[in-house]
Amino acid sequence: MTLHQSEAIVLRTWPLRESDLLVSLLTRDLGKVRGVAKAALKSRKRFGGALEPMTYVDAAYAERPRQELVRMDHFEAIASPLALPIDYLRAATLGYYAEVLENVLPDHDPQDAIFRLTLAVLEQSQVGRCWMPVTYFSLWITRLIGWLPETDRCTECGQNFAGEAAYFHGLTDGLSCARHKKPNSSALGVDSLALAQRMLRDSICAMSEEPWTRQSGRDLRRFLVRTLERHTERRLNSAEVFSRMGG
Ligand SMILES: [Zn+2]
Repeated sequence: MTLHQSEAIVLRTWPLRESDLLVSLLTRDLGKVRGVAKAALKSRKRFGGALEPMTYVDAAYAERPRQELVRMDHFEAIASPLALPIDYLRAATLGYYAEVLENVLPDHDPQDAIFRLTLAVLEQSQVGRCWMPVTYFSLWITRLIGWLPETDRCTECGQNFAGEAAYFHGLTDGLSCARHKKPNSSALGVDSLALAQRMLRDSICAMSEEPWTRQSGRDLRRFLVRTLERHTERRLNSAEVFSRMGG
């Protein structure tokens, strides 16, 4: 048995038998792990207030030989998303981060850049200010996982978009120029292409004071969500909430 103590982010929990929970946890030292928290619903001492998705915790857990599931021993909350006001969009945002991380990350593959990205967007995701961190997260997770195509040139001919819109299609890779776009493609506007370049260059803190609405970067978010969905071959249910809200 190997005991671990690590910073971690709770992604999801599922009820098991009685008061046990199955927990999906993004740990800093081992990447994504799943394990059983025995009597979690009864023991406030061991998990008190630290099981809500996207809670940043100090987690103690144990790997057991020849067993895929770890044993969750003790969580202590470092920062809870519920400590700040919450509204419909912020709840959807937290659910989106959890669903994306759960779907795209392989188990037991620690990636510190993704862990730091998640902490940074969590800090920025406050009531009335969620559209920017959602977009920043979508772009960077797609890049860090290795699925982001070139955002400044056509995948087909290599020509730079140079002030023209780009086009994407849900069933194919990359962005195309107007000449090589597939039928029924969606456009990615000039402003959003520039926004993507800026987000790849700047820290999230540098962008935190800019005014954002649900329209800001909407086509970029949709492109990124389609890219994530195509690679995982799974719908992101939480992203549909953004669409329903006009974002
Ligand atoms: Zn082209």
